[in-house]
Amino acid sequence: MPLPPARDKLLFTPGPLTTSLSVKQAMLHDAGSWHFEFNALVASVRDRLLKLAGVSRESGWETVLLQGSGTFGVEAVFQTCVPPDGKVAVLTNGAYGDRIIQMLKHAKIEHAVLRTAEDRPADPAALEALLSTDKAVTHVAVVHCETTTGILNPIATLGEVCRKHGKVNIVDAMSSFGAIPIDLEACGIDFLISSANKCVEGVPGFSFVLCRRAVLLACDGYARSLSLDLLGQLKGFEKNGQFRYTPPTHSILAFDQALRELDAEGGIGARGARYRRNHEALVEGMKKLGFRVYLDPSVQSCIITSFYFPDDPKFTFEQFYRRLSDKGFIVYPGKISQADTFRIGSIGRLFEADMRALLLAIGETVKEMGIQLNK
Ligand SMILES: *Cc1c(COP(=O)(O)O)cnc(C)c1O
Repeated sequence: MPLPPARDKLLFTPGPLTTSLSVKQAMLHDAGSWHFEFNALVASVRDRLLKLAGVSRESGWETVLLQGSGTFGVEAVFQTCVPPDGKVAVLTNGAYGDRIIQMLKHAKIEHAVLRTAEDRPADPAALEALLSTDKAVTHVAVVHCETTTGILNPIATLGEVCRKHGKVNIVDAMSSFGAIPIDLEACGIDFLISSANKCVEGVPGFSFVLCRRAVLLACDGYARSLSLDLLGQLKGFEKNGQFRYTPPTHSILAFDQALRELDAEGGIGARGARYRRNHEALVEGMKKLGFRVYLDPSVQSCIITSFYFPDDPKFTFEQFYRRLSDKGFIVYPGKISQADTFRIGSIGRLFEADMRALLLAIGETVKEMGIQLNK
């Protein structure tokens, strides 16, 4: 058997991410799903998520954990919360917005699509125009940080439009929650979805939904799915403190530790500041090497950055990827339909020194491949 590497390759990806050793070590236990100590941990995780989001049960908020990756949490919201005669307006400018449309098609839920180009944020004026004319719309859905490119959508302004028209507001904040402050009340959010393995820096295994309790309770009877029934899941927690079906025990143990480490770092503000420093070091270094950033800085998040392929036929992403992997760095392919790009994430347990090490490796790789960059 070959010897395992001294340390794992660093993940410059949109998740799962590089996690701390202590988060990984937290999983070196067996936990009984039925056992009171585990249930107490689940309750504590739910309480701390509400606190992290800056809301409380007293002010009408609730949080539900759901087995599976982030997509399962997003789909559960639509499966559970849209009435049979409901209609969802989806603002999309990337693959995750498009995935919401796919979910609605599968669930046979009526929807209207407001599309902007992949490098353009969602447009509140377009939403205003739609809601003024299409009175059938009951729900609005948008992705906060569209991880396809790294673009940020204006959830505060979109939330105002939703509130003005009295629509239920659903935000996929998968890749932003935990790093970019989100004022749930000010943004008029009813459902916010994120998952364990993004900016909280846990490991994959579950998603979580923060929501207004009254809005969720009003959805009784709508659920089109048994396992993705968010209200059913909440009732399960409230009945006996348990997940309805086998919980992701190790993932919860890791998440408990990840939440402690988020606190120790100084909370969302400090984590976001670290990611911003990572992002800035990355962009500065990549520009020096001659790479071009896809998005305009005014709409670019600090979560993940898309770079154009160099204008040199000697560049292939496969070669570039493999050579970086051999050096211990994992980057990410692009997902944009309108341009040839690759992506580099700045989230996870990564620091400026890691970004600089990556930049050195990219510089070497470019030389090895004999790629000309226009500096
Ligand atoms: C990661 C992510 C998801 C969920 O993807 P999974 O692969 O199911 O975890 C959804 N939306 C956004 C914006 C994401 O970044």
